[in-house]
Amino acid sequence: MADSLVLRAIRGNARRLNLNDRKINSIPKAVAQLPSLLSLQLQNNSIAACPTELQALRRLTELNLGNNALQELPPALGHLGSLKKLHLFGNRIAHIPAEALEGLSNLVLLNLNHNKIETIPPGIGRLVKLQHLSLNNNGLEEVPSQLGSLKELLELHLARNKLSHLPQELCLLSNLTRLNLARNQLRGLPEGLHRLSRLRVMDVAGNQLKMFPVHFQQLQLEQLHCEENPFIQKEPVESVQQEEALTLKETTARLILREQRCRSSVVPVLVQNPSLQALLSQAGHCAVCSQGFLSIWLECVHFLNIKKDMKVASSSRTIPVRVLLCSYKCFNSRGHGYYGVAVS
Ligand SMILES: [Zn+2]
Repeated sequence: MADSLVLRAIRGNARRLNLNDRKINSIPKAVAQLPSLLSLQLQNNSIAACPTELQALRRLTELNLGNNALQELPPALGHLGSLKKLHLFGNRIAHIPAEALEGLSNLVLLNLNHNKIETIPPGIGRLVKLQHLSLNNNGLEEVPSQLGSLKELLELHLARNKLSHLPQELCLLSNLTRLNLARNQLRGLPEGLHRLSRLRVMDVAGNQLKMFPVHFQQLQLEQLHCEENPFIQKEPVESVQQEEALTLKETTARLILREQRCRSSVVPVLVQNPSLQALLSQAGHCAVCSQGFLSIWLECVHFLNIKKDMKVASSSRTIPVRVLLCSYKCFNSRGHGYYGVAVS
């Protein structure tokens, strides 16, 4: 049946071929005689491998191999340079050979949901046109920092994996509008997440988050899903802490940071050393007095009302967001709503 459909397609020089639900366990090699083919649908079959003949489909822009029996991302796909949409969901893929990704530089959509993938090769960073990347329901324990090279990415789906942390480079995905991280084991989110200015929908439900990163409330979200996390609870305990002496390095850094804000100061001229400048560029600023600090700070938390403070639709009412203060002096001062974090 499938063969007769291929023959008919060859005779008609077809642009599209639909072989969904045909109970086939291998791709008919005759597809090589369809060089004008743009779309090949092979969903819901029992295909376990891709023949090298597939490489002849140089104009193919969409390939759907969803719900089959593939165990690795077929290397033959690396030769399909025109491919824009690749569906490989619902297979048994455990391995992504680096060379399979090499030739896929025009890919816009890659769907690998429901597989057994444990690692993604760094070569993923070369798919620079990618806008949709879906890896829900796999066995990922980490994702490579090269994901940060995917500047066109609009949607990133990593739900139901085993991620405990994320690379800092995720904050470079400046076009991202949807980020799905639900049902992982994330203990924290990268600091700098607030730079994702186009992010509108975020799902971090079912993780191990205790609080959100600094400036999280600056995100312009429309939806936030964050239920089922062991968030810090608002249970105030009276506490006044004594000032502590800072290290000489920290004291000097703070002095320079303060002087840098002052136009008439001569200190900025003195700090011309590039490595020193790089160090100072990592400085944070106190949420109470806004003075800079370098490597010593006080970790606090404030509780935000999601609807009121962020204007976001959410299943939760308040969320704890990390706040950094320069000193116990600022912590002990009155008029702010920041809480220290009790260590149990
Ligand atoms: Zn301060």
